[in-house]
Amino acid sequence: MSIDVAVIGGGISGLALAYDLKRQGRRVTVLERQANAGGNAVSERIGGFLMEHGPSTVNATSAVAVDFLRELGLDAERFDLGAGARRRYLVKRGVLQGLPAHPLGIFTSSYLSPRARLRVLAEIAVPRRRDADASGEETVAQFCTRRFGREFTERVIDPFVGGLYAGRAAGLSVSAVFPKLVDLERRFGSIARGAVLSRRADGGMSGSRLSSWNTGIGALPKALSSDLSGAIRTGAAVRRIQPLADGFMVDAGSAGRLHARSVVLATQPHIVARLLEDVDQEAAAAAGAIAAPPLAVAFFGYRRDQVEHPLDGFGFLTPACERRTINGALFCSTMFPGRAPEGSVAICGYFGGARAPDLGALAAGALVDLAREEFRDLLGARGEPVVARVRHWPQGLPQYGIGHGKAVATLEQLGDRVPGLFVTGNYLHGVSVPDCLGVARETASRVDLFVAERFGDRREPVEAPSFSALRQ
Ligand SMILES: Cc1cc2nc3c(=O)[nH]c(=O)nc-3n(C[C@H](O)[C@H](O)[C@H](O)COP(=O)(O)OP(=O)(O)OC[C@H]3O[C@@H](n4cnc5c(N)ncnc54)[C@H](O)[C@@H]3O)c2cc1C
Repeated sequence: MSIDVAVIGGGISGLALAYDLKRQGRRVTVLERQANAGGNAVSERIGGFLMEHGPSTVNATSAVAVDFLRELGLDAERFDLGAGARRRYLVKRGVLQGLPAHPLGIFTSSYLSPRARLRVLAEIAVPRRRDADASGEETVAQFCTRRFGREFTERVIDPFVGGLYAGRAAGLSVSAVFPKLVDLERRFGSIARGAVLSRRADGGMSGSRLSSWNTGIGALPKALSSDLSGAIRTGAAVRRIQPLADGFMVDAGSAGRLHARSVVLATQPHIVARLLEDVDQEAAAAAGAIAAPPLAVAFFGYRRDQVEHPLDGFGFLTPACERRTINGALFCSTMFPGRAPEGSVAICGYFGGARAPDLGALAAGALVDLAREEFRDLLGARGEPVVARVRHWPQGLPQYGIGHGKAVATLEQLGDRVPGLFVTGNYLHGVSVPDCLGVARETASRVDLFVAERFGDRREPVEAPSFSALRQ
């Protein structure tokens, strides 16, 4: 028996894409290597604490996230970031310095030197890049230093991209990670001027509203999975895909084989590279060039009286020039209710990424020691934590380096060279959960169109075949 679409990888991207295709009446099966679907999005209760192994928040202002959450019935149960979590801290000379929550907070605080603040204000007078229309691609560091000055880039932008992408400003392509900034410079000649004018034009509607659920971000893959029940095969690591005249044979080793009219690769890029080696070398090379350095999450629970710092904010970020081991941390129990038992607090630290890949790969015991030292020095945390848990992501977040746009184009044109084969995932157009949902929805439309055009528009209001349909 053949199905319409085999989705390889059951993270947020694969699940969202399969959810859409199933709703469109396509027979779809998700093959997931792990024992549970969800990929990075794992929430775990440890005693009364809630540890997020991956994402902690979803930006619920993004249009696609709004649609998914409403369709899944998750909107009503969602809660937004607590008012006490608006303040952000940055580390300066080994001390946490709070920035006021409003956008101009950076100017009213003494975090940046007066000279650096003046330099940021002078952005409005910095001429547009002369070869802005030429192909010369800039890194985030080059772009931001040119427009806002070195100190702002080192002390604000670099830690910010460390938090968002586990990346380095000097390693990421500005057109890949901040296309809106490049566009503002191109259209208005200045980011500040462009931001004010475009904000006026959209009525000040843009912004972000970070949300989660009582059970954590795991609520999202759970809701997607329950809608797909019967269509997800866990413990099925796909080893090979073979194009045939009438579709593809998908080989998941001892878990079985499956014939599908179309295949979507929704795995991490290094797996995409491996699976495409014998199918399309061009796309395999493009995926293989996207690095995803190791990242580790250290989740700590303390009694409230063990931590001196009020934890009155979202968390802190550390600029690389501070030379600390930790990239930053979230004050989880301030962000959302239910993250720590009464009288306790929860803090989550991040190590590794592009800044220090070796740290992301350290053994759990060594990371616990490093996190304890950092929390002691920066937050005044004393004594044995109540909970100390480490999660390793050997392939952390994909790095959108110089040339990323070309790699994405090569991957997205895969279907032109191998009809019926598609990719989706966090290495294409943004790493955030809403970005993944958006790319998945758009890819699902293209897959649906392909199946309709190639095989006729016969849709079945049926459940996808159960596991028994996998041929042994
Ligand atoms: C520590 C961390 C913190 C983050 N914080 C946030 C945040 O706060 N907010 C936010 O919006 N985003 C955050 N992100 C980013 C976001 O969580 C991810 O980009 C997103 O979840 C990735 O989803 P995905 O489905 O594209 O990939 P993945 O989650 O990597 O899923 C890929 C799936 O493919 C499976 N797979 C791999 N090989 C095979 C195979 N051969 N056969 C079958 N299955 C296979 C894997 O097991 C996995 O389940 C964070 C990410 C991390 C790691």
